[in-house]
Amino acid sequence: MTNVLTSTKLTAYKGSVFYFTDNPRFNENAYEYFHDGVLYVEAGKIVEAGNYTDLQAKYPQAQVIDYTGMLITPGLMDSHVHYPQMEMVGSYGEQLVQWLGKYTIPTERKLSDRKYADKIANLYLDELIKHGTTSAAIFATISPTSSDALFEAALKRNMRVICGSAYMDVNTPEYACLPPHEVYDFNKILIERWNGKGRTNYAISPRSAYLLSPAEMEATQALILDYPEVHIQVHLAENKESGDMVGDLFPGLKSYTEVYDNYGLMREKTIMGHCVWLDDHEVELIAARKSSCAFLPTSNLFLGSGLFNLQKANKYRATVGLGTDYAAGTTLSMLKTMGEAYKVTQLRKAFADNPRAVEPLDPLENYYLATLGAARAMAIDEYVGSFESGKEADFIVLDSKSTQDLSIRSERSESISDLLFALQIIGDDRSVAHTYIMGNKMK
Ligand SMILES: [Zn+2]
Repeated sequence: MTNVLTSTKLTAYKGSVFYFTDNPRFNENAYEYFHDGVLYVEAGKIVEAGNYTDLQAKYPQAQVIDYTGMLITPGLMDSHVHYPQMEMVGSYGEQLVQWLGKYTIPTERKLSDRKYADKIANLYLDELIKHGTTSAAIFATISPTSSDALFEAALKRNMRVICGSAYMDVNTPEYACLPPHEVYDFNKILIERWNGKGRTNYAISPRSAYLLSPAEMEATQALILDYPEVHIQVHLAENKESGDMVGDLFPGLKSYTEVYDNYGLMREKTIMGHCVWLDDHEVELIAARKSSCAFLPTSNLFLGSGLFNLQKANKYRATVGLGTDYAAGTTLSMLKTMGEAYKVTQLRKAFADNPRAVEPLDPLENYYLATLGAARAMAIDEYVGSFESGKEADFIVLDSKSTQDLSIRSERSESISDLLFALQIIGDDRSVAHTYIMGNKMK
């Protein structure tokens, strides 16, 4: 694949246009929907979105591409994913701690081979585009080669991605450990090599507090003090067993979340994956620090980790984005992930003292969590996630006629909300007719 060149011609994409401007949970006027709409794009940026009849006279020179009958929305976003694990998706029979030891760490070791890392990185980004995912926050392995491979593959496609090499030093085989005295320089080299190159950002990625010694956390604290603008991504309160291990490693600290807070990791641009086993105080702390939660339903179900409590996150107005956590998650499709997020909320009712107090996940809120919500969680919403003028033109075209079941179901849809629900429950990569990155058609 050669470098992508951005088209400079003004182009009008005609179709139904839908995007969020805010969180529909807290704002009644959080989205724009134009049934007979149009999206104008020039030089890789959004020029304007609106009704076609209102805007066509304003841009007579535009080349028109007709997607009438289809839905044009911002690209889908995955706020937490592990690209090196592609070949081990669907690894049988274990929960988090044992699954990591038995399958993950040995598989991730293979990424120290640059050829293999390149193969997986390119395959992974091609799959993202096929599934309509235009941005992601990605974990690479302890081998810097794995970060290099992913960033180079992203630059070739001009994609806005965040990535960082996950590191740890306890409860891990020695070959996968990064000693505390190497934490600073290891990250510094990768930050200086990749952060801000093209549309990419580096993320400091201390894997999870149950895999880090106090000395490793102190080294991380020193690093992040020197790089206040760099993203951070971690795992938090994924399952009960890992939470107990954190208690043993950091006996003086009250909770998993307070371990991260104690070492200064909780700030803006910190994405905390899972957040399943949190008390109210911990969720409140995440919101107060302006960090964000990644809701990872297929992974939490596959590993039997637990059911994320979106209602509690909303109670404290914590920022939440949806993600796959592939390959503990079982799909790269954000449409399918939305479907599973809905089921998690339904399942919460079965365990609630008062099931009626648990609200179903609204299709609009669900779609928000996979677009602008995830962009906010990843702190890239100033660039992507909506169709406001000047934003980068990463968008998808959804075809509700792509399969017979979706077609017959969506014919009943009388609202955008119900159409989105049909796509969330039975849609998949076949529903994504086209994917555009910076105005370039990639699918
Ligand atoms: Zn993860």
